[in-house]
Amino acid sequence: MSTKPMKPLSKQQVQVDLQAETMTCLECNNKIFIQGYVIKKISAIMSPTGEEVIAPVQVFNCGNCGEILPLNEINELI
Ligand SMILES: [Zn+2]
Repeated sequence: MSTKPMKPLSKQQVQVDLQAETMTCLECNNKIFIQGYVIKKISAIMSPTGEEVIAPVQVFNCGNCGEILPLNEINELI
């Protein structure tokens, strides 16, 4: 078995282009989002460790109406 060093994350960072599309709330077109967490509870039966697991998943809520910003990877988890 060989252990390779982890690649630096910097390559995956995307430069924020101010010309990029601004995501808006689907409900009210608000552009300001606040950071929040959805808490997933994995039951002991489903958990690989055999113990109940609490897993926070970061989401972004509309600062106006609270609607969650629909990001694909998040939607799969919620
Ligand atoms: Zn909204």
